[in-house]
Amino acid sequence: MLPAAAPPRGRQLFASPGPTNFPDSVLNAIARAASDFNDPAFRVAYASCMEGLKRLIGTRQHLFMYTSSGHGAWEGTMVNLFERGEKVLMIESGLHSDDWALMCEGLGLTVEHLQADRRVGVDVSHLREVLRADSAHLIKAVCVVHNETATGVTVPIAGIREAIDASNHPALYIVDAVSSIACSEITMDVWRVDALIGSSQKGLMQPVGLGFTAVSERALARHRQIDAPNGYFNWKTMLARPQRSFCGTAPNNLIFGLSEALRLIQEEGEGNLYARHRRLAGGVRAAAAAWSRGGGPYLYCLQGDRVSQSVTTIVMPDGWDAEPLRALLRGRFNVLLASGLGDLFARTFRIGHMGDLNEAMILGVLSCIELGMRALGIPHGDGGVQAALDHFSVS
Ligand SMILES: *Cc1c(COP(=O)(O)O)cnc(C)c1O
Repeated sequence: MLPAAAPPRGRQLFASPGPTNFPDSVLNAIARAASDFNDPAFRVAYASCMEGLKRLIGTRQHLFMYTSSGHGAWEGTMVNLFERGEKVLMIESGLHSDDWALMCEGLGLTVEHLQADRRVGVDVSHLREVLRADSAHLIKAVCVVHNETATGVTVPIAGIREAIDASNHPALYIVDAVSSIACSEITMDVWRVDALIGSSQKGLMQPVGLGFTAVSERALARHRQIDAPNGYFNWKTMLARPQRSFCGTAPNNLIFGLSEALRLIQEEGEGNLYARHRRLAGGVRAAAAAWSRGGGPYLYCLQGDRVSQSVTTIVMPDGWDAEPLRALLRGRFNVLLASGLGDLFARTFRIGHMGDLNEAMILGVLSCIELGMRALGIPHGDGGVQAALDHFSVS
């Protein structure tokens, strides 16, 4: 069963944790003639995106959108809330917290790193100690990635809020929810998050290109006091514009797409949406548990109550590189697994299960991983697909 020379046929099963699959109706919504921001249809779609996104993330406060990827939303958030030289605390989770911290440093901020075991995520009591020790309140923000897309480990956003409160620390609370929005429940106002960062190409099932930050009143008050650079991301400029977002031409077609995706989410119902993500993630983990019993690939995440509903990171057995398996799946079966990120590149592969997916797609992916492991002689326990079937038949 060697890779065929001919290109594989059939639909590609795309198990990527971003970008994710586009529903056909989203593609159809995007495929329309150019319009400007005075177009009545655009105004309706824009208003429905503002309202739908706010409902989805549980806020009644402010929302600013940018034509950008998630990196732009990071930048837009940091430049509007902090001045050069100010200190932020970055909770370590994996590649995304590393990259976000590097960006903060590049913008002239001082970053204090709160270290964590990446297979477990932050120790909340450690955070409490660090905040208590900062009696001069030099830390202006606690920054955390809700769902670390590199590791498949999540952190408790409510628990971190409690730690900030318990230490009586006035730091702003900034959450990257890029890969948890529309995959697990987000309640920004209940959690008293001050800035919640998202982008279009993960659970929201869009092409990359729309970044956004939801902002609390408290954070907006800080923004008004500081000397933020008057560049593309400036919130004051956005507030003065009719669409209260986009310091430039609005990405109209993406807004039409997002409006349709939010309609699909509402049609499914948030409870069903999150249950589906939990179910699909559970099936993937059931398969990984079976494989690991035969000395095969195993879960990267070590803590059962912190497993991601969006993506599963799987570690190869010692001595085995993940890339030949990924290459075989892509070339022979037309199944796209995501690579590991950063220093996990060769040791892990990732199965994205966020957005427009169902059991049939996940079972197809898991089946082809088993076929691939057989073909390459990778040791693994039997019955991964069976374990996923068992999971789906009861959950
Ligand atoms: C994808 C992602 C980002 C943003 O990445 P972009 O490629 O710039 O869109 C940020 N944080 C997390 C957790 C992500 O998964």
